[in-house]
Amino acid sequence: METVCLNKSDDAFVKAVEAESGQRVSRCYQCGNCTAGCPMFFTFDYSVSRIMRLIQAGQKEQVLSSAAVWLCAGCETCTQRCPNEIDVAGVMDACRHIARREKKFGARPVSAFFKAFMDSVRFNGRSHEVGTMVLYMLYTGRVWTDVELAPKILPKGKMPLLPHRIAGRKEVAEIINRFNQGLSDPDLVRAGPATHDASAKEAVS
Ligand code: SF4
Ligand code: SF4
Repeated sequence: METVCLNKSDDAFVKAVEAESGQRVSRCYQCGNCTAGCPMFFTFDYSVSRIMRLIQAGQKEQVLSSAAVWLCAGCETCTQRCPNEIDVAGVMDACRHIARREKKFGARPVSAFFKAFMDSVRFNGRSHEVGTMVLYMLYTGRVWTDVELAPKILPKGKMPLLPHRIAGRKEVAEIINRFNQGLSDPDLVRAGPATHDASAKEAVS
């Protein structure tokens, strides 16, 4: 088992996670209830309760480079089960945002898929499955991923080769651009979209 050096605690990281999530991580007393209910536990490198402990100990590198923060499904089971009413899923979310800003991707295929999906929605105003797959292959270099399934799926007509673009795609693109801008500026994320970009708000209303 990996040893954690508690002499090197990054207090600024603890404060950043608490500020971004609005939660007091020091309230966690390591009961393990969150981990016991987590449906993604089998995929994690660190359990969610261990992530909480690592945050308390200011272990920024281990938290931000973990695969767990990217593999978390955001189901909020941990939040529901926490006896101290910590929004644990919100803490995981905050870690994901910070990791993305600092360009640390513990599970790169997950972040590549996220980018592929968001780009597909940005181009078309809605998701286009084939386009998302192509972008994912480009972003990961995994060109032959699941290609053998194409002859079975495409003839059924449920995954059209060409995208169906909606009329309001420019407005959708504005929302996604604003989201991406917010990720690079935590103050914008905290302020929320309505307060920092009135023109974009008008465009979608
Ligand atoms: S929100 Fe994430 S960490 Fe919490 S239970 Fe769901 S998958 Fe696990
Ligand atoms: S359920 Fe709450 S108190 Fe218990 S380990 Fe998880 S975060 Fe900590």
